[in-house]
Amino acid sequence: MLDSILESLHVIELPTKTNFRGVTAREVALFEGPAGWAEFSPFLEYEARECVPWLVCAIESATQSAPQPIRRRIPVNATLPAVDGLGKIQEILSWYPGCSTIKIKVGSDLSADMQRISDVRATAPDAKIRIDVNGSWEVDQAYRALKSICDAGPIEYVEQPCATAEQLRELKKLLNGSVLIAGDEVLRKARSPMQVDLSDAVDILMLKVAPLGGIARSLELAKKHGLPVVISSALESAVGISYGIKLAAALPELHYACGLATGKLLGADVALLPLVDGCMEVASLEPSPDALLDYRVSPERLERWRQRIRDTWAAGAQAWVLEEGWVW
Ligand SMILES: [Mg+2]
Repeated sequence: MLDSILESLHVIELPTKTNFRGVTAREVALFEGPAGWAEFSPFLEYEARECVPWLVCAIESATQSAPQPIRRRIPVNATLPAVDGLGKIQEILSWYPGCSTIKIKVGSDLSADMQRISDVRATAPDAKIRIDVNGSWEVDQAYRALKSICDAGPIEYVEQPCATAEQLRELKKLLNGSVLIAGDEVLRKARSPMQVDLSDAVDILMLKVAPLGGIARSLELAKKHGLPVVISSALESAVGISYGIKLAAALPELHYACGLATGKLLGADVALLPLVDGCMEVASLEPSPDALLDYRVSPERLERWRQRIRDTWAAGAQAWVLEEGWVW
């Protein structure tokens, strides 16, 4: 299996339209297996152990057929990076036709955050607003910041306001139901996402198909934790996003718009995944041969990705795949 992956590997670098979590170009590895195309795109700073679920997800996508979809259209949210200025915010929000939910990155500076939220409200007065803090607040700070933010207008939920499950639990008690909390890193970065105790810590669970090890594993996690979920992306190309859409389509229940429209933040993509009236549809797609050529990386970088895959395979992906019994 490893040889098949390495032989069919394409690595491309897609430009981003805006700086997103410090990323101005997104490198992704793609390969095609018997069940379809797969994406392996852990961020460059991740070590082999952290890349294991990403590779397992890619192998699942290449070798297993996705579960039967329960729905075909997935409502998605607009994602606004931590950018400032009304003009810039209006420009980015215009990339998401029909999206009535907006996720705003916040957490580095409260007055800039408040201004960003207020500019979003001025641009889209009827939109639901959710904010993502990426775990950067302390408990007291989160409590105070949320009070100021909510005094200016309601939010749908706050994603990962503090870093740890203990802090989230403490904050949830203080908030006493006034603001819903979604957990992202607390699950995704946990050593054992299946074992992490999220009781009384979060109200909603973010699920990202690649860092959690694929569709089957994500569905198990949703069941195990028993919370409403939001499927979100890790800024993948259309290949990885289409896999996230298949997960969203297979969930027994879906109450929230999903964060799967992040392809709008890329300056180029390998395939078209239309966003119509705020929804994306289940699709099996193939990357365009032109895009694979036009955005390919140098032979040295391709070799570095091959080595990364070998290291990830050895760090646990091989054992996981064996246990699942997936063959290629
Ligand atoms: Mg997040």
